[in-house]
Amino acid sequence: MGFKGIQFLEDHNIEYRQHGENIGSEWIGINCPRCRDYKYHLGYNETTKSFSCWRCGKMKLIEAVQYFANVDRKKAVKIIKDYGGFKSDATYKREAKEKDIDVIFPRGTLNEFPKRHKKYLESRNFDPEYLINTWDLKATGHLGNYRFRIIAPIYFNNTLVSYQGRDITGKSEIRYKTCAKEFERIHHKHILYGIDYAQKSSVLVVEGVTDVWRMGFGSLGTFGTSFTTEQVLLLHKHYKRIFIWFDQTDPEAQEQAHKLTYRLITLGTKEVYQLDIDVDCDPANLKEEESDYIMRDLLLR
Ligand SMILES: [Zn+2]
Repeated sequence: MGFKGIQFLEDHNIEYRQHGENIGSEWIGINCPRCRDYKYHLGYNETTKSFSCWRCGKMKLIEAVQYFANVDRKKAVKIIKDYGGFKSDATYKREAKEKDIDVIFPRGTLNEFPKRHKKYLESRNFDPEYLINTWDLKATGHLGNYRFRIIAPIYFNNTLVSYQGRDITGKSEIRYKTCAKEFERIHHKHILYGIDYAQKSSVLVVEGVTDVWRMGFGSLGTFGTSFTTEQVLLLHKHYKRIFIWFDQTDPEAQEQAHKLTYRLITLGTKEVYQLDIDVDCDPANLKEEESDYIMRDLLLR
């Protein structure tokens, strides 16, 4: 179990918040005593037993206890022992679970890739043949719940584990429709799109499959701006240098990018950078030369 931090905070009458501005999921927010903050910038994670302030950085458990109990180091050690010790939970090692399921493409998936679907890709400045071959894209026709979509198979260790279908009509309310959870081999939100192709120690994290198509090998998609602990741990485990680039025109996406950066730093990833690139669109809408330039600049290509 390890240190019972929330119990400790309660017993010492330290005010904390479970939701709100500056507070990530799985974190509670506390006013940071070190930088005299009053906006709950100090995060505490009961799973990893880590304290980290958005303003002044990581804080050791012993230091936090010293601040909150107002004691010296020796007394802090005793308090930590009384509250369960230094060890963190085993759940810290959370990994994607794989089910024994063969993923089947949705009803309506065609054997060929129709002109209409290729035209859609061309309209978005993609080279259809290159994408179809590289990412093994499929297409659906007029049948089924996934009709008129480009299906992006999601591979993990060369195994098909899920898929996501991008609407090409512009009329569907659901632009991206993913394989239903019960039919996924691995839940797509527990892995990252493009991971089989990202073999270097550096990587660029973007939001969606189309962003990955644009940025190419060495980029990974989180399937939206929200991310899971499994994805964070996967990134931390496989990469030493991580660039994060979410839609710069969307403040919420930037907030999420900031949270992801902070989570990785807290875990101890050596280098994490939230990119701020001088362009006015999301990665998917860049020109090919621009994406190539950025990837080269980041030494990812
Ligand atoms: Zn602080």
